[in-house]
Amino acid sequence: MKSLLIQGGRIIDPSQGLDGTGSLLITEGKISWLGIGESTPPQPDYDVLHAQGLIVCPGFVDLHCHLRQPGFEEKETIATGTRAAARGGFTTICCMPNTNPPLDNQTAVEYVKLKAASEGVARVLPIGCISRGRKGEELAEMGALVSAGVIAFSDDGEPASNPHLMRQALDYSHSFDLPIIDHCEDRVLTEGGQMNEGIISTKLGLHGIPNAAEEIMVARDLALAQLTGGRLHIAHTTTEGSVDLIRRAKEKGVKVTAEATPHHLTLTEERVMGYDTNAKVNPPLRTKRDIQALIGGLNDNTIDIIATDHAPHTETDKLCQFDLAPFGISGFETALGSLMCLVHQGELSLITLIAKLTYEPARIIGNKYGGLGTLAIGSLADVAIFDPALEWVVDTKVFASKGKNTPLAGERLKGKVMATIYQGKLVYKDDSITVKES
Ligand SMILES: [Zn+2]
Repeated sequence: MKSLLIQGGRIIDPSQGLDGTGSLLITEGKISWLGIGESTPPQPDYDVLHAQGLIVCPGFVDLHCHLRQPGFEEKETIATGTRAAARGGFTTICCMPNTNPPLDNQTAVEYVKLKAASEGVARVLPIGCISRGRKGEELAEMGALVSAGVIAFSDDGEPASNPHLMRQALDYSHSFDLPIIDHCEDRVLTEGGQMNEGIISTKLGLHGIPNAAEEIMVARDLALAQLTGGRLHIAHTTTEGSVDLIRRAKEKGVKVTAEATPHHLTLTEERVMGYDTNAKVNPPLRTKRDIQALIGGLNDNTIDIIATDHAPHTETDKLCQFDLAPFGISGFETALGSLMCLVHQGELSLITLIAKLTYEPARIIGNKYGGLGTLAIGSLADVAIFDPALEWVVDTKVFASKGKNTPLAGERLKGKVMATIYQGKLVYKDDSITVKES
């Protein structure tokens, strides 16, 4: 494969504290040279991708997505899901085990890995189940799942309601040094819930989901993480109270990390007015006050990372009465564009945003895959290139994802992924990007 020079972009790599205009050379799937300023690469023969005016950063790493295969191929497949990821700048994606069959055994995990290797255009790292069949009754064979290559455990979609099971899982996470990803939801309190509990849910006549339903579980599992010394990762944090609980636990030295999603960071419960089923998501969109707390959490590192919780559904799944629609938003292809509004509004620095999408999630996964979330020389050439100021309108017809379910359809976003390179290969590029011989 011929080398590729990405020339003249603003290179931002939080893993090296790097922010400057320069060029990056990719040779045989690895970063082989990086020069800030006018320096020229040490070898003459390469193709050139002009990146003037664009940001060049490590490929995004997503710790939380749903690829639906095996079992729900009408919603998404590994082929379509990884293409959607590439269009969003993601080169590594960790898929949740709520497939059919669920990823609670070695064979199912190996199936996902084989499919990803043969049909995927992004690195797919599977997450194994905490419990057998995701039933919350007995632990899955965690040791076998570790041998199969899972990077974490979760029953996402289902909370681990039984505290004894969660205690055991956290005990094991300690010995495997892998995180337990926690979908925090008290099912008694959320029963029948459709959206955030508040004035709007009352007006719409929809059953509400109170903040406490999340916070009770966050508090319980922080206590269990402290008791066991296990590694806990809080998925899709949405409430001010959860942010406070996680902040205090971190101060006490509990081994906890946390994520927030692009939709919970940018959209409020008001999106549900008009009964838009594409704004129906679990946990639900909350309030401005919760959003401010989440942004505060990103800035003081209480919230370590941003993860998409990409949850594709078919159009017919969502074309129904609000209370019958499934929860979930298709998130890969709008993540960067929607998050950039936080940068444009001065709420988050560009380098912090990139860190939360690259270096920080890579740290949670650990350094087993040859350098994720970094542009350091010798690491895998996973690169995202985006225009921070380009305005575009979300058109779900061009989504690579089978899931067109986004409340952002038709909306104007400022900031667009222009090219994605996975292991040295250009897996996505906008039509305006050209690659020429030097
Ligand atoms: Zn979840």
